[in-house]
Amino acid sequence: MFTTHEPKGSGRHMTIASVHSSASSLQAEFPGVVHLPGGPEYDALTTPWDLAVRQAPVAVAEPGDAAAVAAIVRAVVGLGLRIAPQTTGHAAAPLVHHQDLSDVVLLRTGRLTEVHIDAPRRLARIGGGAIWADVIGAAAEHGLMVLHGSAADVGVVGYTLAGGLSFYGRRYGLAANSVRVIELVTAAGELMRVDAESDPELFWALRGGVGANFGIVTAVEMELFPLATVHAGMMLWDIGHADPVLRTWATWAKTAPEEVTTSLRIMRFPPLPELPPFLSGRRIVVIDGAVLGSSEDAAAVLAPLRAVAPEMDTFADMPTTVLTDVHMDPPEPTPSVAQGAILDELGEEGVRALLQEVGPSAECALTFLELRQLGGAIGRSPEHGGAISALPGSFAMFACAIAPFPEAAAAGQAAGQSVRRAMTPWTNERSFPSFNHGESQVGTGYSAGDFARLRAVRERVDPDRVLAAHHPIY
Ligand SMILES: Cc1cc2nc3c(=O)[nH]c(=O)nc-3n(C[C@H](O)[C@H](O)[C@H](O)COP(=O)(O)OP(=O)(O)OC[C@H]3O[C@@H](n4cnc5c(N)ncnc54)[C@H](O)[C@@H]3O)c2cc1C
Repeated sequence: MFTTHEPKGSGRHMTIASVHSSASSLQAEFPGVVHLPGGPEYDALTTPWDLAVRQAPVAVAEPGDAAAVAAIVRAVVGLGLRIAPQTTGHAAAPLVHHQDLSDVVLLRTGRLTEVHIDAPRRLARIGGGAIWADVIGAAAEHGLMVLHGSAADVGVVGYTLAGGLSFYGRRYGLAANSVRVIELVTAAGELMRVDAESDPELFWALRGGVGANFGIVTAVEMELFPLATVHAGMMLWDIGHADPVLRTWATWAKTAPEEVTTSLRIMRFPPLPELPPFLSGRRIVVIDGAVLGSSEDAAAVLAPLRAVAPEMDTFADMPTTVLTDVHMDPPEPTPSVAQGAILDELGEEGVRALLQEVGPSAECALTFLELRQLGGAIGRSPEHGGAISALPGSFAMFACAIAPFPEAAAAGQAAGQSVRRAMTPWTNERSFPSFNHGESQVGTGYSAGDFARLRAVRERVDPDRVLAAHHPIY
């Protein structure tokens, strides 16, 4: 395991007074774009999707275009401050865990939402602040699909440049591999267009090295795939059936065709009026995902799971535009704590260990424990892939607790740590940055050689460590 030796913050020696004076100068230079603490814009723009996190940067900026991003970066650097791009704040927890924001200008990308579909070339040009909801429907108008994740309100750049694990993954691979061009503002405040020819090493680092370590991405061009409908849905059981369901799924997942990608979650919901009756107050097991193929093919693929007799089964042909509904991610900003690991094949003992932690007889503070099915194209690095072009292993584990108050956060963290400890024998040495929220696991997503390579690129493009990323590479 690699850990960062870098203390939080830039290590520059500015007094609090000079940091605030710099922020005031920045606001004076960019009125209406840069906001300081105390105003309603500051409060709104520093509130992340993950409401469990409080962000207190010295200022927050919301520029309207790439040129404005570049101008702000140049000014920030000139004033001795640092800068952190953020689109939605889904990953605000690792940002505040790894970065002291007291000398950081948070740059919200929410106005960079252009989406242009080039149907003949099967390419989408997507602004650095777009979320998947902006792209999925636009691509679908041309019968095309993009390798988005389970939730429509996640940012395209944050998701993709950390790998990007989708329900199309076992067939088409990680989303990072579908990136063709990245436009970014460097730490020197220059606008650059990076592709495999112009700067192969930076292009490699950006695709998996988590974009913000190398620049503020203002647009990406991504490959689209010809697909208008998908066979998708979920099967649901009471938690009392967790043992046969998990056992069956874990065995099935090993040999299932690449056309199917699924997830299994063991979930615990409090009784809440806003939840549908099949979730409210219930403890359940859910398998969901997508099958690429006809409904007949899908029925054959899913038959072993159906044989365990789910109480609910919504798998059906559907337009690709509604695939983001099947995973039932929270539709609104939500306070949560989470952590992850990558597991190799579980076997009998691994299944038993997991059930002991989260099964029907466990007292568990997690809202859900999720296993995403890996393998297929997710496990294969294509030629010319980036720093994360594949995830080796059988399952990506994500342990998450809704945390509306500190005691719930502490209990959720403890439960997540307990599961990770129990699953250590099945955990491989790699990790998936997007499923690591908070714990210091810097560098564990990469081989030793790749991490050294990432550090060399970072040293080249941001020697003064002006950029503050949620998973920093130093
Ligand atoms: C409900 C939910 C569902 C999820 N589902 C999936 C899934 O199916 N598959 C998957 O792979 N992941 C999934 N994730 C994880 C998600 O992909 C990561 O948390 C990702 O980092 C979120 O990106 P964001 O821009 O929305 O978040 P933010 O917190 O805004 O950004 C995260 C980080 O990305 C970088 N970043 C963002 N925008 C830019 C930019 N324009 N330029 C440079 N750097 C930038 C910054 O370092 C930033 O700190 C999910 C997360 C949640 C909360």
